[in-house]
Amino acid sequence: MFMSLRLYNTLTRSKIDFVPIDPAQVRLYACGPTVYDRAHIGNARPIIVFDMLFRVLIHHFGADRVRYVRNITDVDDKINARAAERGISIRDLTDGTAADFGRDTSELGTLPPTLEPRATDHIPEMQALIERLIARGHAYEAEGHVLFHVPSMSGYGGLSHRSLDEMEAGARVEVAPYKKDAMDFVLWKPSPGDLPGWDSPWGRGRPGWHIECSAMSWKHLGEVFDIHAGGIDLIFPHHENEIAQTCCAFGNPVMANVWMHNGFLQVEGEKMSKSLGNFVTIADVLKDWPGDVVRLAMLGTHYRQPINWTLKNLQEAEKALASWFDAAGQGAESRPAPAVMAALCDDLNTPQMITEIHQLRSQSARKALAGTLDFLGFRPKLFEHWREATAPEPSMSIEEIEDLLEQRLAARGARDFAEADRIRNLLAERGIVVKDSPQGSTWEVAR
Ligand SMILES: [Zn+2]
Repeated sequence: MFMSLRLYNTLTRSKIDFVPIDPAQVRLYACGPTVYDRAHIGNARPIIVFDMLFRVLIHHFGADRVRYVRNITDVDDKINARAAERGISIRDLTDGTAADFGRDTSELGTLPPTLEPRATDHIPEMQALIERLIARGHAYEAEGHVLFHVPSMSGYGGLSHRSLDEMEAGARVEVAPYKKDAMDFVLWKPSPGDLPGWDSPWGRGRPGWHIECSAMSWKHLGEVFDIHAGGIDLIFPHHENEIAQTCCAFGNPVMANVWMHNGFLQVEGEKMSKSLGNFVTIADVLKDWPGDVVRLAMLGTHYRQPINWTLKNLQEAEKALASWFDAAGQGAESRPAPAVMAALCDDLNTPQMITEIHQLRSQSARKALAGTLDFLGFRPKLFEHWREATAPEPSMSIEEIEDLLEQRLAARGARDFAEADRIRNLLAERGIVVKDSPQGSTWEVAR
């Protein structure tokens, strides 16, 4: 028996008990990156958050029973523009950026998804979906474009809980003349000249963004699956349109039973933007901090809340990890402590999870702590290596320090604890921290 997993479902705006369609194959889809530039720290949030969900699902149902698909969008007008700007081929840009993304996520210490399909490998599936939508009266061709006709779907807007009026007001800015309705969105568009294009019944063209996710999730997870995840900014229009396409193509009432969305990210209290000069890539952060610190700093805020990404969060995460690794036993089985699991099963309550890990540390529950850290994928060796490589220079010579430590050892041997404490304090004043353990005393430079 395991504790029930409760997840907040954007579709119903409530926490639900998660029950998979098929416990032998639990299916999760998350929208992945559009590979035109290095991923920024805001992109790291869904990767880190839904990695935690993946770990919890694996714990509940078994590693070979969870299928996590996170796509790579490698056909997009931003990609075309960037490749032209840099004077490189589209394939070089998307391959290079996808490889960078793979390095970033593995340094962060997130588990690789079961599958990372690329959009350009799924053009036939996209075309099949579009043909179905046309045949069922949900899409039409106009001037080389194929558009989804939004009024053809009752219940459009059910995820974002917006009325059609509200959405139309937003869509009216610039309406292409070939659209029957201002809300209609592109499934397929013509590709003139040297833009990437594929032959289709509607002429040489390329897909719209939304149809890519409908095609990849259909191919790898089926018409209806368990959980669809992504950033809160994707709810409208991207996820709303994915639902419209998939539900209307197959005549199903839902695309995924549960929809999960992570909140926005700000940097030091401000919206991140290139013009403000506070645009931070994952690679920038990983230059200064180990991946585990970055991951823990992200998990310090509940995923549905907006997060303020600050240097202070990173420093606190570093301190917490150092104290946990110090206190953890060795060689424990990879298993989360029950209180940690309970926090995660409550809609991924990671702030509570962190509180529970601090509890394990203060209770000296060394094995439970080690098992929990291992379950979470924290890597003590990498962390220790980083701390050694970045340790500040001591303010005294090593001979002086070791000399004082020997005097302290002798004082302790003679049960002169006042003298031992005096030496410890003397070292502390000079920024040297002494750590006592059953194996003896060690020292490090305070940070
Ligand atoms: Zn998507």
